[in-house]
Amino acid sequence: MFKTFSDLADRTLNGDPVTPEEALQLLATGDEDMLDLVAAAARLRREYFGMTVKVNYLVNLKSGLCAEDCGYCSQRLNSGAGILKYSWLTPEQAVEQAEHGIKGGASRVCLVASGRGPSNREVETVTRTVGALKGQYPGVEVCACLGLLKGGQAETLSDAGVDAYNHNLNTAESNYQSICSTHTYQDRVETVERAKGAGLSPCSGLIVGMRETDEQLVEALFALRELDSDSVPVNFLMPFEGTPLAGTWQLSPQKCLKILAVVRFVCPDKEIRMAGGREMHLRSLQPLALHVVNSLFLGDYLTSEGQAAKADMDMIADAGFTVLGSPSGDVPTPEAADEPATEPYEKVDLGLEPTLRRRGAGTAVAPNA
Ligand code: SF4
Repeated sequence: MFKTFSDLADRTLNGDPVTPEEALQLLATGDEDMLDLVAAAARLRREYFGMTVKVNYLVNLKSGLCAEDCGYCSQRLNSGAGILKYSWLTPEQAVEQAEHGIKGGASRVCLVASGRGPSNREVETVTRTVGALKGQYPGVEVCACLGLLKGGQAETLSDAGVDAYNHNLNTAESNYQSICSTHTYQDRVETVERAKGAGLSPCSGLIVGMRETDEQLVEALFALRELDSDSVPVNFLMPFEGTPLAGTWQLSPQKCLKILAVVRFVCPDKEIRMAGGREMHLRSLQPLALHVVNSLFLGDYLTSEGQAAKADMDMIADAGFTVLGSPSGDVPTPEAADEPATEPYEKVDLGLEPTLRRRGAGTAVAPNA
């Protein structure tokens, strides 16, 4: 066990990693000590990523229409959420959407499709999209997120120039059956391993706030460390009406910040992204979180709206960070209560229901970037 957060940061920097027991202790930090925890995690962040922020941009190639039953997902089977539903964007349509994000400052485009996993024909569609995108923007990184991969599909994507593959573990193995019955935790691990085997950079992370205990959160985190994922997105549950987890409010802004700090301690040298739900759950602590994480999504999410892309860029600049990949470090201007984990956090009604996305891909309205 450690004496101070700073001692633990020293130890971590010297190659002696934190243990699950220590991670649990960090998660239990009182609000009065939260800034000390953040300061120690920030040392790890600066050691590996300086003051840079990686900006990623999501394009939802196919929205809704999924036959799987992931309880957190607005695109699931029988979802009652009034999201946009559309089948595959053409490569031209996808590139047009991605362009907004790239011009807005994103260095990575994440091409996402709902569903259990792609057919080989759908993989071909993605390879044509990647070819078109990289033809116009050779420097952009592309991450694909298409669900469970079958044999050979990861290799096809890699050969087509895809750089990374995202498939989140989402939660602990011991919590998995409570959130999904149509595929298993092990299915997810295997897909990440397939992506790694094909030379794709693995991206795998979490959704927190799904009624998991702190012990299960730590279990999931150490599974991600074991998986050696290069990037770790941390999503905060957006409890969509019409999904089984509607009304689940387990997170406070302080809890979210502490979770991010613990993720940094467990995976000190990995790209850690504050992902979906950061606006509604971290709220005014988002700029502070930048001292711990080194990555975010610009603008909107797959089926819900994020804050204005300009507000994201202003936040990065105001907090003293620079966007990775931006010329001369200039920030591009876009165009356009420490409650126990099992206790629900009483939601303050600030109109925090997810705002359904009604712009960008699948609509005639310009995206938020
Ligand atoms: S997370 Fe993916 S597989 Fe699960 S319901 Fe949503 S779209 Fe389908």
